[in-house]
Amino acid sequence: MNSDGTYGHWIGGRWHEPAGAHYPVVNPATEETVGRAPEAGPADVDAAVRAAREAYEGWSRTSPAERAAILERIADVLASRSADLVPLLQQETGATIRVASSMQIPTAVDRFRRYARGALEPDTIPFAPQPVRTSPLAPGGLVNAAAVRRPLGVVACITSYNFPLVNLAGKVAPALAVGNTVVAKPAPQDPLTCLLLGGIMREAGLPDGVFNVITGSGAAAGEALVAHPGVDMISFTGSTAVGQAIARAAGASMKRTLMELGGKGAAIILEDAAPGVLRSAISAVGSTWAFHSGQICTAPTRVLVPRGRYEQVITALEQYARSLTVGDPVDNSTVVGPLITAGQRDRVEAYVAGAREQGARVVTGGARPDLKPGYYVAPTLLADVTPGMAVAQEEIFGPVVAALPYDSEDEAVGIANGTPYGLYDYVFGSDTARAWALAARLRSGNVGINTVQRHPETPFGGFKHSGIGRDGGSFGLHAYSELQAVVW
Ligand code: NAD
Repeated sequence: MNSDGTYGHWIGGRWHEPAGAHYPVVNPATEETVGRAPEAGPADVDAAVRAAREAYEGWSRTSPAERAAILERIADVLASRSADLVPLLQQETGATIRVASSMQIPTAVDRFRRYARGALEPDTIPFAPQPVRTSPLAPGGLVNAAAVRRPLGVVACITSYNFPLVNLAGKVAPALAVGNTVVAKPAPQDPLTCLLLGGIMREAGLPDGVFNVITGSGAAAGEALVAHPGVDMISFTGSTAVGQAIARAAGASMKRTLMELGGKGAAIILEDAAPGVLRSAISAVGSTWAFHSGQICTAPTRVLVPRGRYEQVITALEQYARSLTVGDPVDNSTVVGPLITAGQRDRVEAYVAGAREQGARVVTGGARPDLKPGYYVAPTLLADVTPGMAVAQEEIFGPVVAALPYDSEDEAVGIANGTPYGLYDYVFGSDTARAWALAARLRSGNVGINTVQRHPETPFGGFKHSGIGRDGGSFGLHAYSELQAVVW
């Protein structure tokens, strides 16, 4: 960072001043400028891709052990910088201090450590020898073969706001472990710590050009990256609409894509849910309010309740929502901080207003909290929601829960599957075998049974409009590599 609060792009192992201007990155709680990020023009994008291309030959030929050692050192340096990075991360994301300090850096560190081990995972699948008959093509004999994972080349990692370093680490760490080089394009709203990651990587011994970061306030930087002929793969996390535009553009040059897109998670509470299970369900659904103000793609934003237990669940959820402190995210007692921008707050408010007009009941929330400055939305519970309403169909990305009653398990499955999305659904019931069977009927890439907790080794991704491809655990290594068959 420069003394005037401006940042450069990180290209080829050094700061690179943008050809154009800088734009302000705004703290969503104070509405003050945290720093000024560089605005990438086509020349900056081209410089970043060229740096990654030039570094590819060398990096892709390093040994797995060397890549593992560097990734482990990146984790060490990142962890050692936590005290400096947490305040910046907190300011640019508006995350509560609890979330910023306990999750944003530690989870990113874990991801680098995981893929340090990942670099050492076997990359070769051997096949049993096959006796093959003589043919017009070649003489017969005992033929051997193996499938080997090879890096793809230059990977463009384009990410969404909310957990900037964690999102980026989930892409960069497996991509580097396999031997790719990277150009990262973090979200416009919270890119500053991602820019600092370049220096951390360099200090850890990553060769110059292997990791580059460019930023921009609008779509142009990402678009230029997607269109660039020097990019081999686009790894994207963001909205479905942008993912569709990227997939169309990437198709023209057959770029590989990994698409982690939006979600509209359903939490199905089963008739047999005992009091303990119901309590778990309430706090799980409550995470839509309590965890990063609902700006989470996997949040259980719809709760599906047996009609006979509907009012009981509404009352429990209302009590939960009312118990959450909304306000200044750096106050230790705050649970619900601001949304990322005024525009996002207005969008969420418009959804609530629309639901009200369509006949939904606003049980709690729904009015703008009396907090200034900051882009706050109160935890909002909507009851009497019907499956066709926009709040039951579209991703809101804010602290809003829609509660829908159901009369049969078939109807619950129909409602859960009845949106274009399929990222993460949840089942809460005392008979876990029944919940397991229900999971098979859900068109969703992930299903949580009686928990919103994650398992770091599982494949992560979406069905339907929630994405294409999987990362997470060893699946991340597969996502950033291409299989080559070798026959002898
Ligand atoms: P977004 O789609 O608006 O932006 C995501 C990224 O794409 C940003 O870096 C943006 O600058 C860039 N971009 C925008 N237009 C582009 C274009 N035409 N070409 C190339 N790049 C372009 O998403 P957002 O508002 O930052 O994030 C919220 C969305 O992200 C939600 O839909 C949420 O569900 C999703 N998300 C998904 C996951 C997941 O793992 N599935 C995780 C977090 C967020």
